[in-house]
Amino acid sequence: LTGRLGDIFDRLTRRGALSEEDVGAALREVRIALLEADVALPVVKQFIAGVKEKAVGQEVLRSITPGQMVVKIVHDHLVEMLGSASEGINLEAAAPVPILMVGLQGSGKTTSTAKIALRLKTRERKKILMASLDTRRPAAQEQLKILGEQVQVATLPIIPGQQPVEIAKRAMQMGRQEGFDVVMLDTAGRLAIDDELMAEVAAVRDATKPVETLLVVDAMTGQDAVTVATNFQDRVGITGIVMTRIDGDARGGAALSMRQITGKPIKLLGVGEKVDALEAFHPDRIAGRILGMGDVVSLVEKAAENIDKAEAEKLAKKMEKGTFDLDDMANQLKQIRKMGGMGGMLGMLPGIGKIKNQLKDANIDEGILKKQEAIISSMTKAERRNPDIIKASRKRRIALGSGVQVQDVNRLLKQFQDMQTMMKKVKKMGQKGFMRQGLA
Ligand code: GDP
Ligand code: MG
Repeated sequence: LTGRLGDIFDRLTRRGALSEEDVGAALREVRIALLEADVALPVVKQFIAGVKEKAVGQEVLRSITPGQMVVKIVHDHLVEMLGSASEGINLEAAAPVPILMVGLQGSGKTTSTAKIALRLKTRERKKILMASLDTRRPAAQEQLKILGEQVQVATLPIIPGQQPVEIAKRAMQMGRQEGFDVVMLDTAGRLAIDDELMAEVAAVRDATKPVETLLVVDAMTGQDAVTVATNFQDRVGITGIVMTRIDGDARGGAALSMRQITGKPIKLLGVGEKVDALEAFHPDRIAGRILGMGDVVSLVEKAAENIDKAEAEKLAKKMEKGTFDLDDMANQLKQIRKMGGMGGMLGMLPGIGKIKNQLKDANIDEGILKKQEAIISSMTKAERRNPDIIKASRKRRIALGSGVQVQDVNRLLKQFQDMQTMMKKVKKMGQKGFMRQGLA
């Protein structure tokens, strides 16, 4: 794909707004990539429509190609649809908190139960009890017991002949009596969705009222993931998804399908057979994987960098023209914060290098930047355009509005003046168009 997509993007070199044609050509490749990654067709369609809507008519920033622009939009939209960064396991309920593990046979429920138990034990210092409700496979309960010994987490003693609901109730009872924080219930799966399985899981749910019902799905499940997720969602109700075998070569399109169709977050990823092979879900990593190109990440980074450059360029023009006002300063503060400090930002403005050192002493940190943004946003439009009008009573109002002291407002205004002075100096250095080199 890298090649194909890359070609298309190279061909998109026209400037101006992204046309429907530009976007259409790029999106045909994206569509193939998604289908190859096993994203379900209706989800692919929805995704493409979403990107189209965002992309067509968007102004292409001077310093990046339309292709890079589309890549960035595709990637960002994918990350957005995959959901925000990993949400932890919800343990907000009276102890013992029941967690129900559901899914097809072989999806990794039992392994994931032990992995999650280990994680909650080590990271959150929780006292966990695990119980296997798998009465179908002969050695299933022993499997969990062995895993329990391995991760040093208690398991419910096995009583032969008990049914899943009885076992679940016994687990909750032991959890209450022996002061466990969490009771993990590992259910039996089936090779495919069937009514008996759903009825069994629903009965366990009714008997235990789980706070989390985690659907465990193998990343290799592909197109079937949609059927699995829909069924468990409709008939049992899930609160999150654990995707296993991410260490294999599945592209992980199932993550996007399941997220879209159930609306439930992907909470954790299984990345191997070992009990500590469990990771938090990072949408940007999966996005790169689904698009099938590690390169996409660097492409996107480059695009983002260039977008910031374009912003810097706009700012530079204003400086040159002398129309730099407090709104621009607020914008700049936001940029600086995004780029992790003054150094990065100024590095993009050639010619400012000399002044850079002077500013280093200003010792700018994130908190101060935020405060300064707040001060500016408490000003009226007129004040931001023309800071000279900000006298004592206006300063008091602004300080009150942004929750700072008057001297903070003074400091900000002084800094603004310094910036203006600095710009005049730079101009005097006779560097006509100094900002433009390397930026176009
Ligand atoms: P269950 O039937 O859903 O309980 O599935 P199991 O937990 O018994 O797992 C079935 C097989 O998948 C076992 O051999 C596990 O070691 C393996 N497995 C589970 N999770 C992962 C994973 O994230 N990566 C890999 N490579 N194997 C896994
Ligand atoms: Mg099992």
